[in-house]
Amino acid sequence: MPSSTSNQQISTSNQQIRILVVDDIADNLQILSTTLSKQGYQVRCAKNGSTAIRGANTILPNLILLDIKMPDLDGYQVCQKLKANEQTRHIPVIFLSALDDVLDKVKAFEVGGVDYISKPIQVKEVLVRVKNQISLQLANAKITELNQNLEKKVYQRTIELKTVVQKLRQEINERQKVQQQLVHDALHDSLTGLPNRAFLMERINFTIAHARENHGYMYALLFIDLDRFKIINDSLGHLTGDMLLIAVSKLLQECVRENDIVARLGGDEFVILLDGIRNVRDATFIGDRIQQRLQSPFELQDQSIFTSASIGIVFSSVEYSNASDLMRDADIAMYRAKDNGKGRYTIFDQTMYDETLRLVELENNLRLALQRDELMMYYQPIISLDSNSLIGFEALVRWKHPQRGFISPTEFIPIAEDTGLILDIGEWILKEACEQLQKWREQFSRLPLIRSIKMSINLASQQLQQPNFIKKLDRILLETGLSGRFLKLEITESALIEPEGNIQNTLRQIRNRNIKLSIDDFGTGYSSLSYLRRFPIDTLKIDRSFIEQMNFDSENFEIVRLIITLAKTLGMDTISEGVETLQQLNQLKALGCEFGQGYLFSRPLEPKVVESILNQYPRLVIDNGQ
Ligand code: C2E
Ligand code: CA
Ligand code: CA
Repeated sequence: MPSSTSNQQISTSNQQIRILVVDDIADNLQILSTTLSKQGYQVRCAKNGSTAIRGANTILPNLILLDIKMPDLDGYQVCQKLKANEQTRHIPVIFLSALDDVLDKVKAFEVGGVDYISKPIQVKEVLVRVKNQISLQLANAKITELNQNLEKKVYQRTIELKTVVQKLRQEINERQKVQQQLVHDALHDSLTGLPNRAFLMERINFTIAHARENHGYMYALLFIDLDRFKIINDSLGHLTGDMLLIAVSKLLQECVRENDIVARLGGDEFVILLDGIRNVRDATFIGDRIQQRLQSPFELQDQSIFTSASIGIVFSSVEYSNASDLMRDADIAMYRAKDNGKGRYTIFDQTMYDETLRLVELENNLRLALQRDELMMYYQPIISLDSNSLIGFEALVRWKHPQRGFISPTEFIPIAEDTGLILDIGEWILKEACEQLQKWREQFSRLPLIRSIKMSINLASQQLQQPNFIKKLDRILLETGLSGRFLKLEITESALIEPEGNIQNTLRQIRNRNIKLSIDDFGTGYSSLSYLRRFPIDTLKIDRSFIEQMNFDSENFEIVRLIITLAKTLGMDTISEGVETLQQLNQLKALGCEFGQGYLFSRPLEPKVVESILNQYPRLVIDNGQ
């Protein structure tokens, strides 16, 4: 701002300031021009109005000092003309007048003058007024410039803001897309693209609610589990496994209507929600269709892959108020389908649920049975059919349930196997039975027969598959002091064909400890001759079912004969299970079976009963009841 008082600055800035002085009197012009020029202003003079207007239009002055009283055009008229012209209208005009009339001053302002200098002119006054006007003008100019700058900035900011807004919109769009994708992903299975569990549960709940409000509305849930998928996955690789799952998901979708939901729960488990069906047949029809379609193999990577599925079906009922209950029952029915032989569907009914509840309860109790000392061992004598003498015992576990009394091992051993509890229970059994025989060996050392008596112990295949099984066995033998010579392990045929674990090596190590091996329930499993030859087996235990029917059924008689012949050929001996009658005994003897076990000789016995019998030895044929 030119408010600075430095002379240098004033003169520098004044040089750029043009002042037009208009007066018809030459002296006045002379004085003003000289005075102003001295201050550094660029001064031009005009002697009359017309010249002034022309001059102002040619080179725009910053300020005009305009005499009012002039011939032809007077100062007012000149000022009016200047103000009427767009180019010159903004030039400030200071009137010069000798008149000291109030009315004239008013007029001077009315026509657009900014100030007024009275004649005779006082030099100082002129300079001050000029300077004021110039300062004002400069200030105005500055303000205008600032305003323009401001407008420019606002304009720029507006453009910038527009770009930012545009970018934000884009980003919001992208975020929305990502968000939608996330929502989709959260509700769908990534492998097959099918709805996932979360999606399914929501739909089921919706359907249940709908059915509750609309009497007679029916729906069904199909729980589908592929049979033996794990084997396919392990043997053909995960890539093929994945391809199979995708193929199955397509097949399932083809088996249902457009608005039915096919969901994947994970692994090889799928669920179909059939909404708005007319009757039970609509659902079983889908079950049949799926089974039928699965009869043809999938062609994946140049291989034909067969798979079957077990399906549990549950129907709408007023009892259902949430998706989890429905899923639970469909799952139970699916497991029943598996138990019934796989590759089929089973319809849920309430007894299945009760049965499952009972099993769950039993499982929970079984977990505690070991700690609570509820398990105990019974021992069933094994007899030499030739000499009728005792050659050993089979250890059979018993569970004395505090409320339910004795629970059969046929009931709880499968549960123990399913839950893995068999490992702990089996280890306890091994130890208990070894300890028992060692105790009897010491207690009845006076009896010659006790020295050769063997303890037969049933082993679940899971036990054999444990990598540290041999270590556990060694520890038990060490702790009980029993020699392996007096031990015989009963394994099932299925244990031999388990793909996992190095069974052959384990069996060899067992043999290295002079422990004998029997195949239990022989004839009911899958063993082939090659298995029997490959493994170091000593004894075949002929399954009770063959002995039981031997009397009436000549076919069974033939089977028993075959097994005995086979055993002899392979250098093994045979034990017949479940010998109940003398007739059976005689037939078995005639066929050359070496050993027998059954109610005819003795039921499984409590240890103290065994002890009382050993005390009375040699009276041995007993029937004490369990
Ligand atoms: P298993 O190994 O075939 O045992 C023989 C079963 O036949 C025993 O049933 C025994 O009581 C029964 N039995 C013996 N003689 C006769 C007879 O003359 N007639 C009839 N009808 N039955 C007879 P139990 O003790 O109920 O055991 C059933 C199954 O439970 C066993 O079949 C075995 O598979 C399993 N098990 C029993 N104890 C154990 C054990 O300690 N460990 C393992 N892993 N499984 C066991
Ligand atoms: Ca057995
Ligand atoms: Ca058996």
